[in-house]
Amino acid sequence: MSSTVENVIIVGTGCAGLTSAIYTARANLSPLVLEGSLPGGQLTTTSEVENFPGFPHGIDGFQLMSNLREQATRFGARFEQAMVSSVDLKGPVKRLVCGEKTYEAKAIIIATGASPRMTGIPGEKELYGGKGVTTCATCDGAFYRKMEVAVLGGGDSACEEALFLTRFASKVYLVHRRDTLRASRIMAERTVAHPKIQMVWDSVPVEVEGVQAGAVSGLKVRNVKTQAESVLPVKGIFVAIGHKPNSEAFVGALELDEAGYFKPVLGSQVRTSVPGVFVAGDCADHVYRQAITAAGMGCQAAIETERWLAEHEG
Ligand code: NAP
Repeated sequence: MSSTVENVIIVGTGCAGLTSAIYTARANLSPLVLEGSLPGGQLTTTSEVENFPGFPHGIDGFQLMSNLREQATRFGARFEQAMVSSVDLKGPVKRLVCGEKTYEAKAIIIATGASPRMTGIPGEKELYGGKGVTTCATCDGAFYRKMEVAVLGGGDSACEEALFLTRFASKVYLVHRRDTLRASRIMAERTVAHPKIQMVWDSVPVEVEGVQAGAVSGLKVRNVKTQAESVLPVKGIFVAIGHKPNSEAFVGALELDEAGYFKPVLGSQVRTSVPGVFVAGDCADHVYRQAITAAGMGCQAAIETERWLAEHEG
């Protein structure tokens, strides 16, 4: 059991967590930041980030996250490697259980992010991140100008990604395992009607080709009705089969929506129904999911934390 009660513990080191760390550190709260299994978060798996304001020529995702971490450290944020497995948020002192160790704090900012769901087919993992397999059209679409790409999935995300990619790609295949889209009607109609999008219905991805060369050269798909296999000649594959918010450790302690995302109280993006517990970034946002929106929520959560601690101190 930890003997120190921290002012604030921030769980997560993606854009949201590190921005909270910068703000709470600059407010002299000496935050403790718990780093999980992917230090730096999802951006560390992207090569070039071209849409984060302030970097006119883009910045490497890993470098951006290192910069944020350095900035937080400069103002006094402390970092420890720890995976939260369960929590007790009932009393004025919140407890986070991480294996053998229990951390205690007056306030908590949860910025645990979300993990994109992956298909698990051969070649996907090997060519993920800068080699042709990606989970973010907004981040990586511009790299596929005049090339053919494939989007996997049939929900709103897949349609949104496919439509966005038509700005760059010469052709977008939308590979869906059924013959109707799960997406909202307006998105589905727009997607199916787009001249650059070719629907690949009733088809599941089988293998990403190009592992030997270190870059995607095609996507093998199988029609689930005819069992026929074919190869789509694509250079980019955008996996959009949903995200999984990293909220398991908080089940029962905080309100989650049906998909597992944290549900802030009405009128706030970051306040939860438990006083002193705030959420930020992709674990509480399935709509925008951008580095800059996560950073914005991290800033909001930090300011709310400062105010909450000031009101409840002494
Ligand atoms: P989603 O609605 O859960 O859709 C996931 C899609 O991936 C489904 O079509 C599913 O197929 C398919 N899929 C799942 N596992 C698969 C696998 N292993 N292999 C192949 N295909 C697989 O996820 P989402 O599209 O990310 O949307 C999540 C939530 O955010 C939704 O509520 C959505 O409405 C919302 N959202 C809204 C907007 C917007 O309003 N602009 C944009 C993005 C997301 P099946 O259909 O066969 O199950």
